Amino acid sequence: MCQRLAQGTRWKKCGHFQRQFVKAIVDCNSKQCKKSYRHPQNCLQPTCYQTFGPDIEENVDSVDEYCFQCRAAQARAEGRPLT
Ligand SMILES: [Zn+2]
Ligand SMILES: [Zn+2]
Ligand SMILES: [Zn+2]
Repeated sequence: MCQRLAQGTRWKKCGHFQRQFVKAIVDCNSKQCKKSYRHPQNCLQPTCYQTFGPDIEENVDSVDEYCFQCRAAQARAEGRPLT
């Protein structure tokens, strides 16, 4: 199935990727994939793929920190307000 080439930030301490925008769609060239250009428009097969595969993650920058979600989770676990 097709994949999105996403650009974003890599948070080094937790390794999470934060998508900023989708730069391109990588076409899988499959006629069984509704996201592909090769898929016929009039196809009614319910078995065709309708979703994208996992994003291809391209780091445009990296931060030596935890991501927002991880910091929020840590703050909740420690019972302190999020700064
Ligand atoms: Zn595809
Ligand atoms: Zn189809
Ligand atoms: Zn994280």
